[in-house]
Order: sequence, then C-alpha cells, then structure tokens
Amino acid sequence: MEINNISFSYSGKIKTLHDVTGSIELGKVTTIIGPNGSGKSTLLDIMSNHAVPDAGQVTLDGKVLTDFRPKELARRLAIVHQHNSAPADLTVEKLVSYGRIPHRQMFAQQSEQDAEAVEQALARTNLLGKRKASIAALSGGEKQRVWIAVALAQSTPYLFLDEPTTYLDIYYQYEVLELVKSLNEQHGMTIVMVLHDMNQSIRYSDCIIAMKNGRILAMGAPQDVITAETVKSLYGVEVIIKNDADAGMYMVPIGLS
Ligand code: ADP
Ligand code: MG
Repeated sequence: MEINNISFSYSGKIKTLHDVTGSIELGKVTTIIGPNGSGKSTLLDIMSNHAVPDAGQVTLDGKVLTDFRPKELARRLAIVHQHNSAPADLTVEKLVSYGRIPHRQMFAQQSEQDAEAVEQALARTNLLGKRKASIAALSGGEKQRVWIAVALAQSTPYLFLDEPTTYLDIYYQYEVLELVKSLNEQHGMTIVMVLHDMNQSIRYSDCIIAMKNGRILAMGAPQDVITAETVKSLYGVEVIIKNDADAGMYMVPIGLS
C-alpha cells in the first residue's frame, strides 16, 4: 500500500493531515504511534476508504483506493475501529458471521465457505466456547477479540486495528498482540495497528510510523524510530533507550523534558 501526499481536513478549515507520504510493506506488521489527536485514526480511515483525502491518494495493490467497489475492497482489507458497538443481545456467532457479507451474493444463504471462515475466526480468537454468548455478557478482552474475529471472518490479506489494546489489562493486551503476531507469521497477513505503548510497539512491529500534528515525524525500523529525540519531540517525555541481552531493546521514561 502506497500513501502519497495525503492532505485532509474535517471542517475544510483546520488541516488534520498535512502531506502524509509513506508505504505499508506487504507481509509486515506496521504500528502507528503518536499523541492523542495527531491523526492516527484519520490516517487509518483514509487508508481504508472510510474518508476521502482532499489531496493525494492511497493505492492498494497498484489501484487507487477510491476506485475500488466497496465489496471488492472489503475482500482485501478489514478494519477494527477504535470504538465499536453492536446490539447487546446479538450472539458472538451471529456478529462474526456479518464479517462474511462482502463475500456473499445478494440474498444468498451462508455457504460452506462462509461457515468455515466463521469457525476459523472463532477458533483463532479463542472464542469457540463463547459462540452462543450475547455481546453484552462478554468481558472487555473478549469483546475486543470478537471485533477482531469479525474482521478475520472477512478473510482479507490486510488487517487494520485501531488501538486494539486500549482499556485491556496487561494479560489481554498481550493476548491481542500475540494474536496479531501469529496472524502475521502463520497466515501472512499484513497488519497495521495503532498502539500507545512504545515497548509493545518495539517488540511487535517490523515498522513504526510516528505521527505528530498530522504529519509523519519518523518512519522505519523500531530501533531507528524509537530514539530519545523522537520520543521527546512526540510526547515531551525524557526517556532512556536500553538494549539488553534478555529483553532486547526497550525504553524507560525518566520524566518530563
Ligand atoms: P488520533 O487517532 O491520533 O488520536 P484523530 O485522527 O482521531 O487522532 O484526530 C485528529 C484530529 O482530527 C484531532 O484534532 C481531532 O479532534 C480531529 N477530528 C477527529 N475526528 C473528527 C471529526 N469527526 N470531526 C472533526 N474533527 C475531527
Ligand atoms: Mg485514534
């Protein structure tokens, strides 16, 4: 996916994205970091054709995103938004089956392939035992897994996740991150996610995009992007970057700059 000179504003006045250019490498995990309001979700919306840029374009497999028919794009790219809601009495199984809509002909019944994709999505997210549960009866971690399962049922090569770990306790955060890792390593999915935890970003990403005020401040391998200078510029926090034989590279905040 190529992102070329994207500018975007919600109101027509204040620019939310300024001339953003970058690329998402196939088969890799890319993480977008940056302060609240820096434009991460807006960029993901443009990269999934939920918002149309004022200038510039995004291409997916060589084709401009806005030229895709909705169903055609939904067979290639699934996104889990930051905030999601579903009717509380809907069952897990039913909600996950909605992920198959882009693959169905109008008025067609669920095919064998649809059923299999739903089973696989439930299995990979460890939700087989919860299939008959209603959404309202789930914990935060389970709900997050259900939304990921809906996206997986879509059977797309690209998966975008906007803050998939926010509001989860540390166990469930790592459960989501390990799921992302296995989807990437074992199923070859190209993943783009937004994370706030920089140590998690370092550990789970091939590439990090750092955003500030609607611009890309740095982009590249974790060790090149997560520097004391970049973190200070992004968040105004002083950090020390460490490298340890057991822990690998990590970052320790030591105060405000
Ligand atoms: P992030 O995901 O990095 O926190 P967003 O992309 O959500 O940032 O927001 C970037 C900027 O755009 C913020 O200043 C935010 O207030 C503004 N913004 C986001 N969504 C809307 C909207 N629907 N209408 C108007 N402004 C918005
Ligand atoms: Mg956001």
